[in-house]
This record gives sequence, C-alpha cells and structure tokens, in this order.
Amino acid sequence: MGGQDIGLIGLGVMGQNLARNFQSKGYTVLVYNRTTEKTIAFTAKYPEISAAYSPEEFVSGLSQPRKTFLMLTAGPAVDTMLATLTPLLSKGDVIVDGGNSFFHDTERRFRELGKQGIHYLGVGVSGGEEGALKGPCIMVGGPQEGYELVNQMLKRIAAQVDGPCSEYLGPRGTGHYVKMVHNGIEYAIIQVIAEAYDLLTRGAGLSHKEVRNVFKEWNDGELNSFLMEIAVEVLGKHDVDIRHPLISVVMDRAKQKGTGKWTSQNSMDLGIPTPTIDAAVSARNLSGLKEERVKAAEIFKPLRKPNQYSVPGNFAERLEGAVRASILMSYAQGFHLLRCASKEYEYSIPLGSVARIWKGGCIIRARLLDVVMNSLSVNPLLENLLMDQGVAKSLVGLEKRWRDTVKTAREAGVPIPAIGSSLDYYDGYRSERLPANLIQLLRDRFGAHGYERLDRPGQFHSSWP
Ligand code: NAP
Repeated sequence: MGGQDIGLIGLGVMGQNLARNFQSKGYTVLVYNRTTEKTIAFTAKYPEISAAYSPEEFVSGLSQPRKTFLMLTAGPAVDTMLATLTPLLSKGDVIVDGGNSFFHDTERRFRELGKQGIHYLGVGVSGGEEGALKGPCIMVGGPQEGYELVNQMLKRIAAQVDGPCSEYLGPRGTGHYVKMVHNGIEYAIIQVIAEAYDLLTRGAGLSHKEVRNVFKEWNDGELNSFLMEIAVEVLGKHDVDIRHPLISVVMDRAKQKGTGKWTSQNSMDLGIPTPTIDAAVSARNLSGLKEERVKAAEIFKPLRKPNQYSVPGNFAERLEGAVRASILMSYAQGFHLLRCASKEYEYSIPLGSVARIWKGGCIIRARLLDVVMNSLSVNPLLENLLMDQGVAKSLVGLEKRWRDTVKTAREAGVPIPAIGSSLDYYDGYRSERLPANLIQLLRDRFGAHGYERLDRPGQFHSSWP
C-alpha cells in the first residue's frame, strides 16, 4: 500500500462521513482510528477506503507531502495524537485539524509544529454529520504554504453555494476562531427559536402541530434557514410507543460542548458585548439545573396567583418580527466580535468571505445572512451591522413587534433571555447616553477609581466625605 491522497484520523460520526466525502470526490483515502474495531467495521462497509492499523502504517501509506486530516475530540486527544504522529512525519507535510479545537490551542500547536517544518492548519468544519458527507462549510486558518497543498481538496468536498464554501480566512488560529464564533451565533439562534416555541406552546397554548405550522410558514419567508427547517422536522417527529410528538417526552436539559461558552468568555476578554450569545449559554446552564427548577416550581406554585396574562393565540406574526430582529442581533454581535478579534489577534479576517461561506453547508446557513453579506459588500469597514442604514431601517420596522413580544412574554412570565437581551442590545447600542456616568461616580466614591467628564478632557477624581 502507498501513495494515498489523504489520510484521515478519527472515525467518529464526522470523520467517517468526511472520509466518504473525500473518496466520493475522486481522492484515495486512508483512515486510522484509535479503536481498531471501528476501523474494521468502517472499511467492511466501505471497502473502497483503505485502512491503517498503526500510526506507522498510516504515515507510510500516504503520498508526499503527506496530508492528514484529524477529526478527533477536541482537547488532549489532539495533543496525544500529534505527539505520536509528528515524529513519523517529514518537513513539508500538512496536518489539518478539523475538530472544534480551542483557538489558543491551535495557536500553540501551530508554533510547535512550525518548528519541525510541519504545516498545521486549524480548520473549522460545520454542517454536522450530513454536512460532512454532502458538503460542509470549511473555515481555514494557518500557514499559506500548507493551505496551498490542500486548498483544492477542501474546496471540492465543501458545500457549493455561489462557489465552494471553503475559504482561507487567516493565519494561525483564525479558522478555529471563526468556527468558535459561528457556534456562538448558532447557540444564540437556537435559543431564540426555543423561546419562540416556548411562547407559542406554554404561553399561547398552541399544540406542537400548530407550532410546527407556524415555523413552516416562517421557513417559507424571511426566516428561511437550516435551523428553522430542522425545527419543523423535529416538531413533526412522533414517538411510536407513546403516540405523541417525541418532543413532549424529551428531557428539558440542554447539553453543550464548550464553543458557545468560549465565544462568551472571549468576548468578555476583548470587551465586546455579545449579550444574545451570553444569554443562550446561560439559558443552557439554567436548563441543566432541572432538579432545582422542579423544587423551585413547587415552592412558588402555592405562593403565586395563576397568571392573569397569557400570550394571545394570534401572536405568531408579532413573534416572527421579534425572532427576525433577535437573529439579526446575533449576527451583529458575532461579526462585531470577529472584527475586533481580527484586529486584536492580527488575523485580518475577510468578513465578507465569512458571511458568504456561512451561506452553505453550515448550521447557521440562512436567508437572513444576505443582510450581512450585502452590508459588508457595500461597506466592509462598518463597525457594526447596526450602523448600516438599510439594516437600521428594517430594525425600526420590526421594533413594535419586537417590543410587543418582550412585553407579552414578561407579563406572561415566560423567560425570553435571548430575545429580551437582543432588544436591550439594540436599545443600548443606539443610546447616545447610558447610565455609565452613575457607575463611574459610584466607583470613584468607593474606590477612588476616577472618571472622565463630558465638558473637558482628562481624568478626574472628587473628594468624597
Ligand atoms: P466522535 O463521534 O465523538 O468521535 C471522536 C473521535 O475521536 C473518535 O474517532 C475517537 O476514537 C477519537 N478520539 C477521542 N479521544 C482520542 C484519543 N485520546 N486518542 C485518539 N483518538 C481519540 O466525535 P465527532 O462528532 O465525530 O467530532 C469530531 C470533532 O469534530 C470534534 O472536535 C467535534 O467537536 C467536531 N465537530 C463535530 C460536529 C458534529 O456535528 N458532531 C460538527 C462539527 C465539528 P475512538 O473511536 O477510539 O474513541
């Protein structure tokens, strides 16, 4: 055996489908997996794909310069595999880390492998299991020289929407940084959709079938997107045993793997507000406290009169406006973060290309992304989507429905952390003055932290009793 075009390590759900994707595009593929049984089962099913059963066999089976795609659990698994692999590789070989690695880890690995002359590319792959097979969105970061060696391959396996949805986005950790923010936006949009579902079911008393019809209608309009499409699909899934929609018996405890949390943590580090994404992460954390929530519900039940407010049955039209505006706020925050990180980490991220490749293959692909693309094509230097005249005008148009939704939800006692914080972001960002003047004086009063003034330059401190 020798001379396979690409090697893939990690036969999890993503790795298996990526291997099949490469093979279907005419490349010869060699796979290796830590657990041998998985490799045997995989190649028994797909005999056209070759297998290696040791790292040595894997490395010797690749044509040079060797191209290795890692699709492993992010974290120590990647370091362990690199420690095994790199002594066997040669100068000029390429490693593509396609998992959701933390971008600071990618920066470190890039430096370490660069010293050995190995091109280490940190690549964000989005699209889930199906995308991996049929065409994912691929966000590439790392050394240009290494990228040139895999560019064509990545473009061929990627989704194709106005061209391949695979782009080189910048040096070092750029690809994984962009993927992290993509996932942060994904968390925000999923939370917004979940809040709409909650308002329509718990609030307005609609059945799952009725909510499904509402979402179906939305998906035929401005809210057309992959996530809305699969929301329609999952709401329609019946459990054959209980003869009820599956969703009615699914535990209301959301799990997470970290990329949303990293986005929030990094936005805090950089001082860029991303409240819709933060709210989505916190909402998942709150959902995780199931036992405590059940206990708290018992405590409050006898203390509170039944809520006199409910969500009106014909609420869907207003809600659609709020959902649209909140999704736009998620994009505004995500792209604002990308713009600032691009400067801070010297990534030079081509934001227009990011918006374009997110249109295909990835989880947040949506018609509304056209708004971002159009805005960036007219004015690539705009600080924030909210500064775009056209976007500002459409947000003003959505405002009444957005505020009505927030008011109705507050009165009905249905939590809407993402929709609510999106409206606060909108109101805050367009506020010429905020109450931070009081914050500054309080800080000066208790901690002599000083303050600036509007009427003259410089730093000031008052003497307090
Ligand atoms: P998965 O099904 O859990 O598979 C994980 C793979 O990593 C397996 O092949 C496993 O090998 C290997 N692995 C774990 N620890 C290892 C170690 N210490 N040494 C060697 N190999 C090890 O994961 P997945 O869903 O395919 O995801 C793979 C990567 O893609 C992750 O970084 C994930 O975040 C990212 N991703 C996932 C999705 C998605 O929708 N699932 C989408 C985009 C990106 P064994 O078989 O031996 O356990």
